[in-house]
Amino acid sequence: MNVILLGPPGVGKGTQGVLLAEGKSWKHMATGDILRANRREGTSLGQEAQRYMDAGELVPDELIVAMVKDTLAGLPEGQGVVFDGFPRTVPQAEALDAVLEELNRALDRVVVLEADDDVLVKRIAGRRSCPDCGSVFNVFMNSPAQEGICDKCGAALVHRPDDNPETVKNRLNVYAEQTEPLIRFYEGREGVLAKIPGEGSVEEIQDGIRAAL
Ligand code: AMP
Repeated sequence: MNVILLGPPGVGKGTQGVLLAEGKSWKHMATGDILRANRREGTSLGQEAQRYMDAGELVPDELIVAMVKDTLAGLPEGQGVVFDGFPRTVPQAEALDAVLEELNRALDRVVVLEADDDVLVKRIAGRRSCPDCGSVFNVFMNSPAQEGICDKCGAALVHRPDDNPETVKNRLNVYAEQTEPLIRFYEGREGVLAKIPGEGSVEEIQDGIRAAL
């Protein structure tokens, strides 16, 4: 299956995407994680993406689409994919349609996770992310067994620099202006879009997502 997780920053796409991909042996394709890995490795893509990410703006579509295309083309045929953080604009969604068609893949579901802005802001303040494996924890509601250490791979957890309150405000605006229109874009496709409350325990939300698939 090819599934998109759509929703505002902090709604739990990363946490839920990792769980879903692990449970189903699918590829978790998180464009934010791929960009951060490029930044750590100092690639030209990472360097170019840096100023957009630090400002909470979107990285230009052509860079993102080329990156996704490369990753998808390297996957075995029939390998399921969870898209997390992509597409984020209508042109990206159109490009994804074209790439999927080229690779003989179908878009099976778009799962929208929804939550109020005040919940998102609080979650992002408590978020701690693993720079190595992409796991996400939260000091308020989903803390790691050992403070500051990733349960899964043992790396030191970080508070993402773009998770500061000012940048978060901009990321929420960018979501409303550029990404939310995708809900309407996919609404027209029969049986594709499912809306799930993004509030509740990690397990409850995961159950909701799986029920929607
Ligand atoms: P995320 O980890 O999904 O919150 O993404 C962190 C940042 O990476 C975003 O604020 C953007 O600057 C950039 N980014 C990630 N995915 C995309 C995308 N699909 N299109 C444009 N920029 C992206």
